[in-house]
Amino acid sequence: LDEFELIQRFFNRAPADDSVLVGVGDDGAVLKPDAGRNLVTVIDTLVENVHFPSDLNASDIAFRAVAVNLSDIAAMGARPRWMTLALTLSHARDDWLQDFATGLFAAADEHNVSLVGGDTTRGEQIVITVQINGDIADGCQLTRSGAKPGDLVYVSGTVGDAAEGLAVLQARGVQNDDTEFLKARFCRPIARIELGNELVPLASAAIDLSDGLYSDIEKLISSSGVGAIVDCESIPLSGPLRRIAGDRALRSALTGGDDYELCFTASPKQEPSIHALAKALGLPITAIGRIREGSGVTCRQNGRDITFSHPGYRHF
Ligand code: ADP
Ligand code: MG
Repeated sequence: LDEFELIQRFFNRAPADDSVLVGVGDDGAVLKPDAGRNLVTVIDTLVENVHFPSDLNASDIAFRAVAVNLSDIAAMGARPRWMTLALTLSHARDDWLQDFATGLFAAADEHNVSLVGGDTTRGEQIVITVQINGDIADGCQLTRSGAKPGDLVYVSGTVGDAAEGLAVLQARGVQNDDTEFLKARFCRPIARIELGNELVPLASAAIDLSDGLYSDIEKLISSSGVGAIVDCESIPLSGPLRRIAGDRALRSALTGGDDYELCFTASPKQEPSIHALAKALGLPITAIGRIREGSGVTCRQNGRDITFSHPGYRHF
């Protein structure tokens, strides 16, 4: 299987729409953006044994590589459109590539994203870089920097599941509905594209959760030049996480990464709209704290402040 054949067989597929004037197969892709919309570009690399265990199935590896990029697009409030794929593999095995392509296009097709080019190389480790270009109406981007004192801090879905899912995957222990749920949260993250789009008129700032709730809120507030108080009892934990992680559930929620939920801030006057949005999307959106003047994240549990020294936390 040579490089040309590999690309033709697994990665040359019809684009999602006629915005792709030249796609896979030439020296470059030619893309036609919609008039009046700005481009939003994101890129993420996943390295074997760093971002995923090497025995994770190829379909999940590819799905995640696309989903983590879609999540960045979601956090900007943008619409994903075109992606490129840089693939480094130690060997080109047919069945692995077939699974990889299946996962890749499953994630992309859900949002009509076209694969328009890439690069394929041999190396000792699997390294996957996906770049997605999206678009957004002028001035409509959500950024990390708009949070204001008094705004509420919200999070979508539940947090901590993916980190626990990875631990479950690696432990290879008993399997039940709870462990399967947690594993799927790691292997098949759901980028909150629709939520991001709907938040454009509502949110003052947004970030997607890749490194862990605590450190991602820190990034948002430091970009905004504000502080935050997080109420630990309000943090949404799934039933499976509570049952499998027990006492570690809150710690997983605050410091575990890979959830790809959205964390955003909004003025309290948007509360009814956000409540309605959660209902319309069938996705929990939970207020977990408040922005204040100053700096730093303060986590409160049972009226006491908790500080973290990553990855654990200590009480004082
Ligand atoms: P060049 O040598 O001009 O960079 P390549 O031979 O690397 O071109 O690639 C040929 C075509 O295949 C290009 O259009 C490139 O974008 C595309 N391509 C290469 N690898 C991939 C991949 N993994 N997925 C999608 N398209 C790819
Ligand atoms: Mg070329």
